[in-house]
Amino acid sequence: MSVYLRPQTLADAAQILAGQGGTILSGGTDFFPALGDRPVTGTVVDISGIREMKGIRVTPSEIRIGGTTTWSEVVATPLPRCFDALKSAAREIGGIQIQNRGTVAGNLCNASPAADGVPPLLALDAEVELVSATGARRIPIAKFIVGNRKTQRRADEILAAVIVPRTLDDAASVFLKLGARRYLVISIAMVAAVVAVDEKGRVREARIAVGSCSASAQRLSGLEQALVGAPARAGLGRMAVANHLSEISPITDVRATAGYRSDAALTLVSRALDACVGGQPR
Ligand SMILES: Cc1cc2nc3c(=O)[nH]c(=O)nc-3n(C[C@H](O)[C@H](O)[C@H](O)COP(=O)(O)OP(=O)(O)OC[C@H]3O[C@@H](n4cnc5c(N)ncnc54)[C@H](O)[C@@H]3O)c2cc1C
Repeated sequence: MSVYLRPQTLADAAQILAGQGGTILSGGTDFFPALGDRPVTGTVVDISGIREMKGIRVTPSEIRIGGTTTWSEVVATPLPRCFDALKSAAREIGGIQIQNRGTVAGNLCNASPAADGVPPLLALDAEVELVSATGARRIPIAKFIVGNRKTQRRADEILAAVIVPRTLDDAASVFLKLGARRYLVISIAMVAAVVAVDEKGRVREARIAVGSCSASAQRLSGLEQALVGAPARAGLGRMAVANHLSEISPITDVRATAGYRSDAALTLVSRALDACVGGQPR
């Protein structure tokens, strides 16, 4: 037997989860496929009607992506340049119908190693706001997703917003995804890069995240440090070498071997860096 509830406020949803518990349903684009042939059981808490979690709010210090914001809304909202990678990822998630229903928060909470939203948000130093009946807490995404489909979310918590600090608004950002075909495809490897350039034309800050190559997407901090001060021009991508990938340990699965993933990830990193500085990708 199953109970379906559709609270209209975040407070009501949190009260339900604190009381009888339940599984959160948002766009349903991961929820329903995960059921396979099984029927829905237990309490389902559909959060898609909670208006206060809809849409993107821009403040002087941060950008808040509400917990029921869809990928189509990300694409349609004018955002600073550093969000270009997130917008590219949004356009590559399934097809238009999936983007119209699927949410950024659902992508993060499902925590697939191949979740396309994770690398761009990692590269933006994003945080998640988790709300329960007892209060709210914020954690960086890097600490929120702890493994393959594992997060730090407690069962009584709702991901109410994804928050991006406005520290690199004008930085260039690029998302590249490799799949077995061009559209409607799960990533074999993907990369998000954000590169800020100083007034002398040198890299001021670089952030690079690789997804689909380990249990959860990872930043390449060694490469990020090595890039600071480098001339931000064509050929920047050549600074990425195999050693920089030691922070990820590519997996072998039905989509690709670990060796193929390592090669592909390095090529994507290099191309993303060149694209950020306007150079011709290798
Ligand atoms: C045909 C198809 C193609 C797809 N292609 C891609 C792709 O290319 N790339 C990609 O990354 N993904 C893809 N997906 C997966 C999916 O569309 C995305 O992960 C989407 O962002 C999930 O959001 P949702 O709102 O539908 O989540 P739901 O399915 O509603 O929920 C997913 C999980 O997160 C939990 N949850 C949802 N919202 C919250 C919240 N606010 N707080 C706490 N927990 C929450 C739910 O309980 C559930 O466990 C595809 C799915 C389909 C069906």
